[in-house]
Order: sequence, then C-alpha cells, then structure tokens
Amino acid sequence: MLFIVPTPIGNLNDITLRSLEVLKSVDIIYSEDTRNTLKLLNYFEIKKRLLSYHKDNEEKSSDEIITHLKSGKSIALVSDAGTPCISDPGNLLIKKLLTHNINFEVLPGPTAFVPAAIKSGFPTDKIFFTGFLPTKKKDREQYLEYLRNNVIATIVIYEAPHRIISTLEELLQIFIPPISVSRELTKIYETTYYITDTESIKSITAKGEFVIVINNNVDHKKDLQNTSELNRTIEKLKNEGFSNSDILKILKTFGIKRNTAYKSINDFKKKDK
Ligand code: SAM
Repeated sequence: MLFIVPTPIGNLNDITLRSLEVLKSVDIIYSEDTRNTLKLLNYFEIKKRLLSYHKDNEEKSSDEIITHLKSGKSIALVSDAGTPCISDPGNLLIKKLLTHNINFEVLPGPTAFVPAAIKSGFPTDKIFFTGFLPTKKKDREQYLEYLRNNVIATIVIYEAPHRIISTLEELLQIFIPPISVSRELTKIYETTYYITDTESIKSITAKGEFVIVINNNVDHKKDLQNTSELNRTIEKLKNEGFSNSDILKILKTFGIKRNTAYKSINDFKKKDK
C-alpha cells in the first residue's frame, strides 16, 4: 500500500494522528526534501528509511516505488510541506499507480490554499486553485486575462516572496480589489493583508510564504453591458494596438450589440482628441 501523507505547512502540531500512525508503520518514506523530513521525523521520534522523490527524479523514483510496492513493502510519500501533488511532486506516481492497478490512500491534512481562501472572507462555494502563475511575462498576462474573463470564482494563487510585490501590482491592473494575501500561515508571523491599491502593497513584508486570493465572482462579460466596464475594455484593447474594427469584432464575441460597441468606440475617440 502507498500512502500520500500531508505534513505541516508551519505549525508541527498540525500533523494528523493518522499521518503519524502511517509514518510510523510504513517500511520506507519517500520525501521531496529528505533533510526537512528528517527534522519532522526527529521531532516526532520516528526512525525510518528515507529516500528522495523530487521533481528531477520523479520518473525514476516512481518506478522504484512501484517495484517496492510489488515486493510487498509499504510506502509513504511526503513533500517538503503541505500535501504532496498540490504544487508539489507526486502526480506522476499517482498516474503510475492507477496504470498498475496498485492501491493507494490519500490522507487529508495541511495545505496552504484552503486556510488562505477561507481567511479571505470571499465566497467559498466556488474556489479555483491555480498554484504558481506562469513566469514568462507574456504567458502570465494572457493567463491572468483568461482567468479574469472566464473563471467566475474565488481564485487562489501561490507566489514566491521575490515576486509577491510585482505580482500584486500586476493583479491590481486586472482584478477588482481588495485582493487578500496570506503570509506565513500557521507560523508565528502569520498575517493576512487586504490590498486595495498600490499604496497598500507597501505594507507587505516580502519575506516568507504567500497565498494570494482574488474575489473574481463577477461575470465581467456580462459586466461589459455597463458603460464604465465597456470603456475600460475598449481603452485596454486600444492600448494593446487593436484597430477599431478588431475591437468591434472582439466586443461582438462578448455579446455586445454592434450599435452599442460602435457608439462607445466613437465616444472614446472623441475623448481621445
Ligand atoms: N504542497 C503545498 C500545499 O499543500 O500547500 C504547497 C507547496 S508549494 C511548493 C509552496 C507554496 O505554497 C509557497 O510558495 C506558498 O505560496 C504556499 N505556502 C506553503 N506554506 C505556506 C504558508 N505557511 N503560508 C503561506 N503560504 C504557504
């Protein structure tokens, strides 16, 4: 049997009784960062054979795990922190287990995006978790625009400390504030910020770990029927170099009547002069 075992994202007391039981009982623990896992195991006085499973050896290690499982060994997979497979390695192993028809269990436990989404106070009936954003500027811009227009939900993003400020500046251009930012969840300096404008970004200490939560429970396409949103969109498309006839075509795909679109573009042209 293989067990996916979540580990604390800060506070060691967040490990579940069942996770401890499994870690104590298995033959081998595969871990994303063996040094880190060793600290955890020492804290709970667990002595176990520890092998590495990380994104650069995922293919080889998952085959090795399958061989161990077939020979009757029991194994636990842990990541650096939180739940394996959630913005962490593990999915390749799950796919192989399914292919080989091998049983596995996924233990519930700590993960950063759930407490961050709840702390935001934004609606929790539809949560879209998207992990880390693309790092290439163009890909990220396109993806964020896609999210804004197509994902009507509370959107949760993971971000690294060296990018948190610039990402928030970018998000403010695209989404409606406030944006919630949870830093260092379950740790001593846990803080949740509400970003309303570029000034409020300055209050963030850009150290530690961050989850960004956006309230995008708005149908922006429907919103285009209201004039200010329509003007904002026209301005954006103009700045991106689209011609008036292209803008008309784009607005048509959003269900804007030709006459309305035409009038707004003309009003915009007048304002421009
Ligand atoms: N597997 C983890 C999980 O279940 O949440 C996520 C691992 S991912 C490599 C690391 C990212 O998770 C961090 O960059 C941060 O965005 C988020 N994260 C993890 N622990 C956190 C914490 N204590 N507070 C805030 N964010 C955290």
